[in-house]
Amino acid sequence: AGKLYLVPTPIGNLEDMTIRAKKVLQQADYIAAEDTRTSGIMLDRLGIHNKMVAFHKFNSKEKAPELIKLMREGAVIAEISDAGMPVISDPGFILVQECIKNDIPVVPLPGPSAFATALIASGFDAQPFTYYGFLPRKSSQQKPYFEQMKQAMATSIFYEAPHRLVKTLETAAAVFGPDRQIVCARELTKIHEEFVRGRIQEVLDHFQEVAPRGEFVVLVAPATEAVQALSWDDLVKLVQELTEKG
Ligand code: SAM
Repeated sequence: AGKLYLVPTPIGNLEDMTIRAKKVLQQADYIAAEDTRTSGIMLDRLGIHNKMVAFHKFNSKEKAPELIKLMREGAVIAEISDAGMPVISDPGFILVQECIKNDIPVVPLPGPSAFATALIASGFDAQPFTYYGFLPRKSSQQKPYFEQMKQAMATSIFYEAPHRLVKTLETAAAVFGPDRQIVCARELTKIHEEFVRGRIQEVLDHFQEVAPRGEFVVLVAPATEAVQALSWDDLVKLVQELTEKG
């Protein structure tokens, strides 16, 4: 019977391809890839030669019904993105939704994703965490997200392009103040893998000196309780408790 496999691919180091992921890609009837050229090069290096179909945000509306039809007729489709996990800040979501609607099994494979890889080495609590993907580009639109991260008792994680990193960190520092601990995880699993850790102002100073290059995950430490503002409900409860105590 037809089904959809969601197959993670390496985020830099080709050896992070799992044995099962490779087997699924070899045995699928089709590989649905975001960019067939980029993925073609990677698959070639991994020794995988299989039929590819392009599936990305620009053609997903018309392509999804075609792929659903193929799966209903029994085809096994393996979906990959350019790097890491499909659906995580990548296309693929529509196809998953359509499969669920059409009773086609969706089989996810575990594997590399940049945010989880960064999180486990960040030194910040991994539970709870909030993953934001890419933030909006404009400072004014980023601010509400940073306000939320400022108050959050969870580690916050987001992706940023190298040429926007400094500006985004400036906006974040303006909201957080200079002392919040952050980590910039760069080029994970690659030759130039690096973790820049410290107060946001220190990290900002570093990247103002050394221009950011490569791929980045940014992590923001959870708020300490002192920073956490009291919600209205908490405040009412506190006043009630104090009044009861007299
Ligand atoms: N699907 C991918 C995943 O599972 O992580 C994310 C794809 S998203 C289009 C690409 C962004 O992920 C990059 O701009 C960067 O922020 C982050 N990223 C991907 N690979 C990375 C790496 N090796 N090191 C650091 N960040 C990475």
